[in-house]
Amino acid sequence: MRIDILTLFPEIFDTFEKWSIVGKTIEKGLVSINKVNIRDFSQDKHKRVDDYPFGGGPGMIMKPEPIYEALKSVNTENSLTIYLSPQGKVYNQQLANQLSKEKHLILLCGHYEGVDNRIVENFIDLEISIGDYVLTGGEIPAMVLIESIIRLLPGALGSKESYTDESHYDGLLEYPQYTRPRVFKGLKVPDILLSGNHKKIDEWRKYQSLKNTYIKRPDLLKKKELTDEEIIMLEEIKREISNKL
Ligand code: SAM
Repeated sequence: MRIDILTLFPEIFDTFEKWSIVGKTIEKGLVSINKVNIRDFSQDKHKRVDDYPFGGGPGMIMKPEPIYEALKSVNTENSLTIYLSPQGKVYNQQLANQLSKEKHLILLCGHYEGVDNRIVENFIDLEISIGDYVLTGGEIPAMVLIESIIRLLPGALGSKESYTDESHYDGLLEYPQYTRPRVFKGLKVPDILLSGNHKKIDEWRKYQSLKNTYIKRPDLLKKKELTDEEIIMLEEIKREISNKL
């Protein structure tokens, strides 16, 4: 996979691209990340990239010409061009899974009051928001996308289970996890996890994963198609919880 980041602040990514799984995935050659400074494409002698909004109002707008030229410099027939924007489709794991199958992503990071809308309407395939709040620029949202996508690339993590077991992959939250010591401040790890019985451990994890989701994010259960086994478990979880009340 190749990812081109169009930004006014390429230096923000310098540490990011060396960090943890991101750095390792780049080192393994599974992804290449290229930063494109939009300012390099300004034809203005002062290298300006922003201007006042037509119609008045606060702030500045990113001019269309440098963005267009920057996009043209990296675009190929395999590119999917994404504008990080608070007006976009709200990002989730499902979208990360879809994007991890793309060959080439171009991520446009806005700044100031955003970008001239002629760019958004005519040269962007997808607008993505990382949540219903407004940030100063698209750089942190771009990092969120990159990090969540590249950990799904085959070979990026130690094993496939590293991400298929995790929260949101199959519409549920992950089960609780514990490590040594077995007893911490008098608090014991659940016995089943020390039993060595992997069938029972898998069942316990499935149950706990459903229970976690039911308690913390019941909205997710409404969107998920549950199996017969999960429906039975969920009934049991409801009984368990109501007996405790
Ligand atoms: N005026 C714009 C609006 O109200 O829709 C907001 C502009 S914001 C201050 C500047 C840039 O930050 C945007 O162009 C976008 O690239 C990025 N940004 C801000 N919030 C974001 C979010 N929730 N998700 C993705 N990108 C965001």
